[in-house]
This record gives sequence, C-alpha cells and structure tokens, in this order.
Amino acid sequence: MKEGSRRKKLSQTGSSRLFRYLIPEEIASLLPQHGSSKELNLVRLGERNTETTPVDIKALFLGPKAENGELAEKMLLQVFRDYIFWRRNFHPEDMSAIQPEEQTSAEYQRLVARFQRELFMLLGELKADIPFYSPRYIGHMVADISLPAMVGYLATMLYNPNNVSWEASPITTLIEVEVGRELAKMLGFGNMPQELARTWGHITSGGTVGNLEALWVAKALKFLPIAVRFAAQELNVTGLTASRARIPLESMRAWDLVNLTPTETLDLKDQFIAAYTGAHPELEPQEAVAEAVQQLKAHNILTLGDQAFFSRLRGEDSLNTPVIFASQTMHYSLQKGAGLVGIGAGQVISIPVDKYYRMDRGLLRQALYEALEMQRPVIMVIGVVGSTEEGAVAPMYELVSLREEITEQGLSFFLHCDGAYGGYMAACFRKPSGELRSLAEMQKEYGGWPTSEVHQSFAALGAVDSITVDPHKLGYVPYPAGAVVFRDGRSKELVAQEAAYALGGRAGHPNEIHLGKFILEGSKPGAAAAAVFLSHRVVPPDQGGYGKLLGHTAKIARKFYHRLLLLAQSIQDDFIVTPLVLPDTNIVDYCFNLANNDRLDIMNRFSQRLYQELSIHPESPVQTRSFIVSHIEFSYANYNPEILKSFLEQKLGVKGDYFVSSKELKQRLSEGWVGCDDEIMVFRTTLMNLFTLEEAWGAKDYIDSFLEEIPGLLRKARAAL
Ligand SMILES: *Cc1c(COP(=O)(O)O)cnc(C)c1O
Repeated sequence: MKEGSRRKKLSQTGSSRLFRYLIPEEIASLLPQHGSSKELNLVRLGERNTETTPVDIKALFLGPKAENGELAEKMLLQVFRDYIFWRRNFHPEDMSAIQPEEQTSAEYQRLVARFQRELFMLLGELKADIPFYSPRYIGHMVADISLPAMVGYLATMLYNPNNVSWEASPITTLIEVEVGRELAKMLGFGNMPQELARTWGHITSGGTVGNLEALWVAKALKFLPIAVRFAAQELNVTGLTASRARIPLESMRAWDLVNLTPTETLDLKDQFIAAYTGAHPELEPQEAVAEAVQQLKAHNILTLGDQAFFSRLRGEDSLNTPVIFASQTMHYSLQKGAGLVGIGAGQVISIPVDKYYRMDRGLLRQALYEALEMQRPVIMVIGVVGSTEEGAVAPMYELVSLREEITEQGLSFFLHCDGAYGGYMAACFRKPSGELRSLAEMQKEYGGWPTSEVHQSFAALGAVDSITVDPHKLGYVPYPAGAVVFRDGRSKELVAQEAAYALGGRAGHPNEIHLGKFILEGSKPGAAAAAVFLSHRVVPPDQGGYGKLLGHTAKIARKFYHRLLLLAQSIQDDFIVTPLVLPDTNIVDYCFNLANNDRLDIMNRFSQRLYQELSIHPESPVQTRSFIVSHIEFSYANYNPEILKSFLEQKLGVKGDYFVSSKELKQRLSEGWVGCDDEIMVFRTTLMNLFTLEEAWGAKDYIDSFLEEIPGLLRKARAAL
C-alpha cells in the first residue's frame, strides 16, 4: 500500500473508532498526519471503546476512603511516564537543557527545598477544604469527581492544549466537537452522525457562560431578519420571502420580522446569501458569500449596538423594548447575562412558580399573550430543568406547545432550557440508540421516578433551541466544564468573529475548526473537554451509563424524602420537619419548626441555629461536622407568596400572615409587631453521592445516620434559642 493511502486508511479506521459522531471526512481532514505512533495509539484506544461494559459504581470513583487509591495511583503513574516518554522523543537528537551537574548545584537544591516546603504548606492548608467526596457531604450540587474524569483531566492538562484554536489543540478541539455531539444526542437533538453534525455544542467554563452564550445568540437571532432587510436593500437583492406565508421581505415591518421563528430566520439568512451569490455569477462563489456575510454583519445588532440599531427603526417600524420570560426560580446568571448582552437584567420578567416550584404555565401563557397584544418582542423564554434551589423541572413540553400555539398568532421567540444542573439526567431517558425510553420502564428501574410530567419534559427537550448542561455538576467532572448545545448549528455563525492571529486565515487548513471564532471565551482548557470525553467513553451518556448513575441518585432522593416523613412522625411531639415537595430530580428541600410555634421569625431563628451545626463554620474545622447540608432563603419578593403561605400554614403550623415583604416587615417592626419575616429558611440536600446507601457504620446507611443525628441537634438548637 502506498504511504499516503495507508495513512489515510489508518486515520479513518482509528479515528472513526475514537470518534463516533464526527463524520469521517471531518476527521480525515483534521486529524494531524504527523507520525503514525499517535494514530496507532488512537486506533487502540478506539478499539476498546466499542464494547459496552456494565457500569460498576465502585470502580468509577476513588471512593470515600480512597479505597481505589492504588488503581488511581497506577493510572496516574502510567499517564506521567507516558508523558515523559513523549517529551524525551520529540527530537531525540536535541541536547538536554538541564545537566545532571546542574541539578546538584546549591541554588538548584535551595529552590527544590523551598518548593517542597511550600508544597507541604499548601497540602496542609487544603485539608481544611470541603470533603465533597464524602456521603456526609449532602449540601451543594457537587460530589466526587469520577476517576475517568480525574485521570482524563490530569493527563491532558500535562499537554496543556488550548481549545481556543485548532493550532493549539489539534486533538482536543476535535474531542470537544465530538463531546458536543454526544451531549446533543443525550438531550434529544438527534441520533445519527449526520443529524448531529447539524447541531452545535461545546464546552464552556460553566453554566453561567453557557447561559450567557445562549442569550448572546438569541439576541443576534431575534434581530437578524431586520439586518437581512437592510443588507438586501444595500446590495439590491430582491425577491426574498420570509416565513411560511411567503411574504415578500420588503413589505414586512420590523414587528413581523422579529416574530419569524428561529428556523425561518436562519433560512432567511441562507436565502439572502444564495440570492446574492446567484445574482453575481461574475464573482467567485466564496467571494460572493463573503460579501453577503460582510454586509449582513454590518447591519447586525451586535455590530451596531442597540442604540444605532434601534434608532434606524422609525414610525410603524419602531419596536417596543424587548423582554425575556423566565421562571421565578431562574439562576442569577440569566440576569447577569441579560445585563451583559445589553438586553437588560430588568427586562428579564420572572414568571411565578406553581406549587411544585415549576414555572407556572398558565401565567407564562398570560404573559405571552399580553406581549403579543402590546407588540412587545420576546427574545427568549427560558425553562429551568433542575432548578438550583429545588431541582424542579419546568414543564418543557408545555413551553414547546405554547410556542407553537402563539407562533400561529404572530409571536415567536427563542426557547432555551437551562439544564445546567438537571440536563445530564436526560441520560436516564435515552437508549444507547438515542431513542426515548418509556415511562413505565423507567419508573420500574428507578423506584417510581420520574413522574409522567418530568418524563414529558425531558422528552420535549429535542424541540428547544438551546440547552445549557454542566458536566461539572451531574457529570462528575472537575471544574471547569459546562456546556451549551444549539439545535441548529447555523446559530454559531451569528456571533462568529475573525481574529487575524489565531483563527485560521488564508494560511490555515481549509477545514480547521477554531472554537474561539464561535464562542464567548478565549483560551480554555482542552483538558476539560478530554475529561468529559473520557468519562463518556467509560460511562456513556445514556441509559446504560450515566442513566444508571443518575437514576440511582433520583432513587436515593426519594428514599431521603420518605424517611424524612418517618422522622417527622417520630419527633412530632416536639418538632416539625417537612419536605417541600416530592423531588423532580435528586434535590430534597425541607423545613424545620418547633411544635406549637406559629411565629415565622422564631422558626427561622431556630433553623439558623440548627444550620450552624450542619454547615461549614469559620471557627470550627470541617472535621467536626458530622454532616454538611446547604440552605436557601425563599424571599417574599422572589417567590410566589401565596404558595409559600399555604405551605407555612399547612405543613409547619406557622401563620401565613407572618410572611411579608421587606417593606411591610420594616413597617411592622417599627410598630412593635413580632412573628414576621420576609424570608423562609429552607434546608437543601443534594443527593449526588452514589455511596449514600452504603453502610456508614453499624448497618446504617448515610441517610439513616443523618436522620438519627437530627433529634439531638434539634434539642441543641432549641436550647440555644
Ligand atoms: C449551577 C447553575 C448555573 C450556573 O452554572 P455555573 O457552572 O455555576 O456557572 C446556571 N443555571 C442553573 C440552573 C444552575 O444550577
């Protein structure tokens, strides 16, 4: 076989095993062709990955007592030795830069000694850090990181690839694109490689940046049809039509243009480029496309800025201030992001939650019809899948059908799902083929979880426009690893930015993928992408892999919920404990009160005392805590007061009238009232640790051990009041 074709064959077979969703042509054109040792390496790596292995949780983590310490040590040593080999053999003819004699010099030794001393200091200090790995840590949305993620990260970090540009990360850029497609499949955007190639997903530093990017794209997309109209005028492109009704573009007012659907909008852009190219046969096609894109960009809201963009829309073309609708329990990154992209944090309208702490669909519907009536552009609607406080899942299927309904009436918007926390649970719902699993089968496997409502919401994710999902939360991957996935990959072009020095250019390879061109961030760790990649290879993001892990956590959460109810019965003479709701995912919220206390201020003070025993405290080392939980404060301003009042009255014996706004609280305090507060203190336990049901000691698992401590702590807190 000729050298060239042999290499090509190798890289295709090898890489098509390493990558499952990248299309062979994409890989063939991008995989570095230098030296065959690396390629062979990839071939071997890939071969083993085609098997499906049962997921044994016990082999997947270092273990609460580092039970798998030797295994991890062996692998890390392998990684490091292999890495040293790589350095030694890059131009073996080069001389050593550091000579053995130099390594014995006094200065050398002094530096090493200092390094050693400082390292021990750091290691010592770190012992005061939070033991996320322990089943005794049941607080925030973090648990142990998996071994594949840990080893994948550390191994790749040594190579220090920068995924901003292909030139600085030829392997990990491809890995990141592949991971984006795996996530797209897990979330329901498609099953086949060709379908997945039409999506666009990548790793971000976290959910905050994922959400920010979705806001950025949604804003650009919303106003794109207006840019097309101006660009078409400028370039004398006629005959464009938009929307299903095939209305001529010239005759559409700004209001109609901003209410094209996201797909119609992206189609219109393509139509414009094709029309311009068609009208200019004298130009090279590439040149014509570049000119059309250039012109579009000149009229884009991100180029002009809001001031210049909106000031051109006059008379019946003028637009009202655009808004975003999101649930009351949205993550604060959405307000941050809306401010940052110039939509305005104040234009993010919060829709109250229902009694399950999910966005109230009736109220959303009402808000949307009001926007239609007032002709107020809606840039985006955001449903949270796995709310940060409650783990609640927004009724995504209702959001999808509501959008269909109101699009018919002339109002359209970009639909985003903030699944930073709960998004990974989609793995439970998908067969390895990508097909949706049935509700009955899932409930049987996961102890009654999920409810039909939650099942329908996950099933509907494939119809939204973008989803944020954090591997560094339910993916058990180290920080920083968030992700955002767009259903229509064309979205990324709307925010594309050229940079002369790094992102391709004329000298570059024609097919190079430069992530930096299409994303918000610049330099970013290829190690993060590799950590997610290796995790997915060992534990696939479907029913057989992550589905097993996360379904187990949902089961644990239900057990916690039910045992909390049992505890409530056993302490009812002195204390009240009550869960907020049956969890949609794996977070349980609960409240405590003294029996026969109807004052909210006292309930909160009592809860704070108790919380001090169950949280990190600057004065007492973490080792003195038997369990660590987290808490949230439900404020009058940010929650649906009616729902919380009835919760207080029915479940906690507190007078609902004592729950008031901050303003009212000040007023009442000045009048000498007692009993009131503007917040409700809620305990929050995230049940992510997969060893929670293991025996802690004396044949009790960690939930039992935790609940057994509670009565004593309650008495202590009462005594301290
Ligand atoms: C955690 C979280 C975020 C933010 O993600 P980071 O990774 O912390 O930036 C956004 N939305 C939701 C629902 C979250 O739970």
